[in-house]
Amino acid sequence: MKKKALSRRKFITGVAGASLATAAGPLQVLGSVTILNRRQGKLALLGGEPVRRAGPIGPPWPYVDDHLVDTVVKTTKSRIWSRVQAANGTVPSFEKEFAALIGTGYCVATGSGTQALSTCVEALGIGPGDEVITSPYTDMGTISSILTSRALPVMVDVDPDSYQLDPDEVEKRINSNTRAIMPVHIFGVAADMEHIMAIARKHGLKVIEDACQSHLARYQGKGLGTIGDLGCFSFQASKPVACGEGGAVVGNDQALMDECYTVQNHGTSRKGSNETIGPKYRMNEFEGAVLMGQFPGIRERFRIRNENANYLRDKLKDLPGLVPQKHYPGTESGAYYHFGMTYHKDHFNGAARSLFLKAVAAEGVSLGSYIRTGLHREPWIDHILGLESYQKMYTAARLKEYKEGMHLPNCDRISDETMVSFWGSGTLLAGKDEMDNIVNAIMKVYENRNALIKNP
Ligand SMILES: *Cc1c(COP(=O)(O)O)cnc(C)c1O
Repeated sequence: MKKKALSRRKFITGVAGASLATAAGPLQVLGSVTILNRRQGKLALLGGEPVRRAGPIGPPWPYVDDHLVDTVVKTTKSRIWSRVQAANGTVPSFEKEFAALIGTGYCVATGSGTQALSTCVEALGIGPGDEVITSPYTDMGTISSILTSRALPVMVDVDPDSYQLDPDEVEKRINSNTRAIMPVHIFGVAADMEHIMAIARKHGLKVIEDACQSHLARYQGKGLGTIGDLGCFSFQASKPVACGEGGAVVGNDQALMDECYTVQNHGTSRKGSNETIGPKYRMNEFEGAVLMGQFPGIRERFRIRNENANYLRDKLKDLPGLVPQKHYPGTESGAYYHFGMTYHKDHFNGAARSLFLKAVAAEGVSLGSYIRTGLHREPWIDHILGLESYQKMYTAARLKEYKEGMHLPNCDRISDETMVSFWGSGTLLAGKDEMDNIVNAIMKVYENRNALIKNP
């Protein structure tokens, strides 16, 4: 069994560099003829046979099994529907298990990832007049969590190959109002935390990790979300661990985590005294039940995604035109919310990304380009610059400089030209045959790149 898988692997790697005709002989011996044939021939876009029949890759999503359903039914019948009704309901139990799972002292569940991030901003006392440095290449929830405390989200450019916050750019934008850095582990793979933590220490800044895509992923011996002062997760329906809508804050500082509890409990502490500013962000017991119900297989699904992602990274090594997301030293595993790749059209005979995506889709494999644009090019910026409150909190000179700082060329290039990704939470749970289909669809388009565009 193992031997066969190895030969197949070798085969695909070999074909990428070698001519198909010379590779055909030995392949038959290895029993991989179907793979070869499927990769040969006319592009499906031009009327050829597709690599696979179109349709989603991977098992139905979100994950559901009998145990999960039983847990939800049990919660319904127990009539414990809010976490404040019992100390051992699904939400408090989930908090304990999740903290242990990722290796941190404490966890406070919330109603979403955005709420988790917002809880951290508020718990650290960040508010009007303060600035938080973060990435433009992220979910709007990241930015929203800073805005709801009426602080200023300062977006800096990203690395073009890792799509993560560029630490040099972070340091350039620190000023006397800067209070925190909010790195985003995009696609569930670690940002350059070694450098970001060093900068934060040097300037006395807090670090809130947006680990909303990063469940169980590890870096330099630590779980993502447990490296900074606080970390946040999302359990929105598309995330690798999902309950519809849900979130969590994690951390090791008990006093700070108590403050997070108080903030997400409309300012009411565990002891019942009303102490601070806070919305009501509590996770409900049904969401907790969906999460508790899927605990038994969480590690296994994480392992399968990593195995498949590593397999794809290995297969794509010899293809110069489509380079998987750069990992920083010390990256041990990823959550792979998305599997991201950088598209270099020069290696595809000049074909624009849209044409490449169309050609791969015709082969039955649907790839996308993640978010349509960096968040520095969205209307919310002019909205806050027009608000009297922001005009009172920040000087006119600062707001002018802020607007001028929206020039983030790497982020623009990624979103406009080079990002090619697919959603990994479910897709990466598929079998090896489907991983081969993904590789073969891409390779077939690469090998037929001259037919794709005749006069570049
Ligand atoms: C999903 C996500 C969020 C927001 O989480 P919600 O649960 O949808 O509120 C924030 N940041 C990142 C990076 C995300 O992927």
